[in-house]
Amino acid sequence: MRKPIIAGNWKMNNTVRQGLDLVEALKEAAQTAPAEVCVCVPFTALSEIGKSLKGSAIGLGAQNMHFEEEGAFTGEISAAMLTELGTRYVVIGHSERRMYYNESDRSVNLKIRATLDAEMIPIFCVGESLDIREQGMAKPWVKEQVVNGLANISAEEVSRMAIAYEPIWAIGTGKTASDDQAEEMCAYIRNLLEQLYDDETADRVRVLYGGSVKKDNIDGLMAMANIDGALVGGASLKAGDFARIMNFEEK
Ligand code: PEP
Repeated sequence: MRKPIIAGNWKMNNTVRQGLDLVEALKEAAQTAPAEVCVCVPFTALSEIGKSLKGSAIGLGAQNMHFEEEGAFTGEISAAMLTELGTRYVVIGHSERRMYYNESDRSVNLKIRATLDAEMIPIFCVGESLDIREQGMAKPWVKEQVVNGLANISAEEVSRMAIAYEPIWAIGTGKTASDDQAEEMCAYIRNLLEQLYDDETADRVRVLYGGSVKKDNIDGLMAMANIDGALVGGASLKAGDFARIMNFEEK
């Protein structure tokens, strides 16, 4: 049985003070959640939020990382800097980073490798734009991202990962994919994993959905056979909403 993951992605929101108030308001709800829960916070908040989360049911996550161990990479953060603060999850290849910071499949692949080497869990994001979907190319697009992102990643390693299907047209737009659309692509990704690895490995990988997940649509999404959790942006900034999302109705 795959344990679902409900991950909050704060993006560039919350000062340390605001973040501390938010996690304080989430701790009790996380105790009853039928999922691993984490919050992926700005780098500046990792240290203090990490201290606050110790002993709680909420894991600490980052939103990006450099793939090199150290060196002359001004403005970047390494895996060791994250693990030192207790970081367990790292969002890799979010569409906003691909779009605004030229993240390529190659850099995403190197970041997945570095995250796994540091014993953290990459939340590897893939997903198509509206344009690609309307051209009927969503599956080949996602296939290429998955295949390139997982180059040289072993079966044992991939089974420790989470893959988040995030259609770009649904992120921050309030326009969620329907349960069936989300399930179709998550099942397709699992099928790809069967081809790239084997049935047992494909069965272990947590495949998440992300894109305007809200407290009103989480139960339907989580009832789908191949959806093992959610990557939640906007709704993870509201304590009451994220508390409800993490306590989704179990299938
Ligand atoms: C995200 O940040 O990955 C995301 C899916 O955002 P939102 O839930 O706001 O669409």
